[in-house]
Amino acid sequence: VLAVENLHVTFPGPVTPVRGVSFALARGESVGVVGESGSGKSLTALAVAQLIEEPGQVHADRLEFLGQSLPGADSRARRQLLGTAFAMVFQDPMTSFNPTQRVGNQLAEVARYHQGMTRRAAFARAVDRLRAVRLPGAERRARQYPHEFSGGMRQRAMIGMGLMCSPALIVADEPTTALDVTVQRRVLRLLADVRAADDVAILLISHDIGVVRRMCDRVLVMYAGRIVEDLPAAELDSAAHPYTRALLAAVPD
Ligand code: ATP
Ligand code: MG
Repeated sequence: VLAVENLHVTFPGPVTPVRGVSFALARGESVGVVGESGSGKSLTALAVAQLIEEPGQVHADRLEFLGQSLPGADSRARRQLLGTAFAMVFQDPMTSFNPTQRVGNQLAEVARYHQGMTRRAAFARAVDRLRAVRLPGAERRARQYPHEFSGGMRQRAMIGMGLMCSPALIVADEPTTALDVTVQRRVLRLLADVRAADDVAILLISHDIGVVRRMCDRVLVMYAGRIVEDLPAAELDSAAHPYTRALLAAVPD
């Protein structure tokens, strides 16, 4: 579903935070990205989502989503493609929600905008999606505001927002970092279930190599703006790069 070749992200200044990143995701595949703070994980995700703002610049030999070249598409076609088949989940869902609007309406907005649904149909779908992410009392919760949710519930609702379309790919950037351990586990299980039920590919960015090892088919290790390791999760123990070895050594297992 996704092919990235020789991706560079640059900002004015001496450092190029992403330099020559290449990877691909097949349908239903889950790929984890680990790497130290500042290694370029989030920028890689943002570049794929076409969310890098000026003055940042994205260059790639190839950046294809569902067989379509993202940089090549006009902005309307690109918005449509991403809006209907791509979902992104960020670390802190509070910042992704509008605090002044009911959660259900915010989910509904996605379907109104991208699928032209009526207000009523879109809201019904929002409630249905909140049920799909197993939010207790979905009907009532849909009428509440984001601050009335716990962090874990917000993250579920954020994943529910991603499911307003039928995503072929979910990019989750540290989706559980802000949550306590039991809630973390639940959110990760939800992502795994979504993936299994709908054959969705998942790009999971995490600083926790243990999580990635459990959740993902393949692991990418980023270091200083490059991918230094790309291997099946099951073969992680035979990783060669010294940074990967250091990461593994740091995990109590
Ligand atoms: P973390 O684990 O802390 O989230 P990360 O791997 O996600 O780290 P990125 O957010 O991708 O790291 O950032 C990579 C580098 O790019 C960092 O050095 C950061 O300072 C730089 N960077 C990110 N966004 C911008 C920006 N808008 N302008 C300039 N530099 C930026
Ligand atoms: Mg990041």
